[in-house]
Amino acid sequence: MTTFLGTWETPGKPAVETAWRAFQGGANLRECIEQGLAVCEMDPTFLAIGLGSLPNSDGEIELDAAMMDGENLECGGVCSVRGIVPVISVAKKVLEETPHNLLAGEQARRFAISKGFTPRNLVTEEIARQYEKWRAGVFPDEYMHSTSDLHGDTVTMLGLNDGHCVAASSTSGLAWKLPGRVGDSPIFGAGLYADDEIGCAGATGLGEELWKAMASYRATRNMEAGMSAQEACDEVIQHMIRRLPNACVMSCVVLALRKDGDFGAAITMGKFDLWVCQDGAVSTQNFER
Ligand code: ASP
Repeated sequence: MTTFLGTWETPGKPAVETAWRAFQGGANLRECIEQGLAVCEMDPTFLAIGLGSLPNSDGEIELDAAMMDGENLECGGVCSVRGIVPVISVAKKVLEETPHNLLAGEQARRFAISKGFTPRNLVTEEIARQYEKWRAGVFPDEYMHSTSDLHGDTVTMLGLNDGHCVAASSTSGLAWKLPGRVGDSPIFGAGLYADDEIGCAGATGLGEELWKAMASYRATRNMEAGMSAQEACDEVIQHMIRRLPNACVMSCVVLALRKDGDFGAAITMGKFDLWVCQDGAVSTQNFER
């Protein structure tokens, strides 16, 4: 069985469908997930990933992305990158073509350019309008992410084929964040984790709290201790609710996929849609608290 999971109502579907199409075309698991995330990054209607996503407090879009391969625990990520898409492809190049795990900011951008990526303006007219509205104080929340009215939709993907798993994520982070702020999404153990001996896990939501909880590593360790994927996610969320009060101010989600194909997800507050593709059969599951 080949399984792809993708987060949030709107981007999760094209993410898993694209990954499955790539799989049918002969792509390996890393490539499938890269393509699933890249499709979302290039769609300007998805407001928390790639082109046309919600900017920082200076009005600039800063992107984070990462990929972890469960076969050998290899990691590759980029954070605070401006003017480059798809950043998941840059993250994959860090994984495959450097001895490092994570490149940041201007240096990550220069690395991307050296690998053939062309810098471009990611701020669409719609995003410029949203930024002006934020500056005018139209939005009540200080920060926003996926469950806000603007439907950000960071995309975290998990993939599994024949006992091999890959986890990845791509995001513009919190809207209106301080320039240079990095959340959980490109941080291994926080926003994603993969280990073929166990399975993989990912997160989306308020990155500061997910990082403090090391949500993805904790979910993976829970599965290693014998929990189902659902029990593993529930335990992480219970822990966060108990220990991290802010995790209940803005929602936090963890999702997990065990090496035998068992999967689950849980949320601290609000609603969450998980898209699932199992051997091409696409469905959605709703989570709420
Ligand atoms: N986890 C992301 C971050 O904090 C945001 C999100 O998932 O919506 O950067």
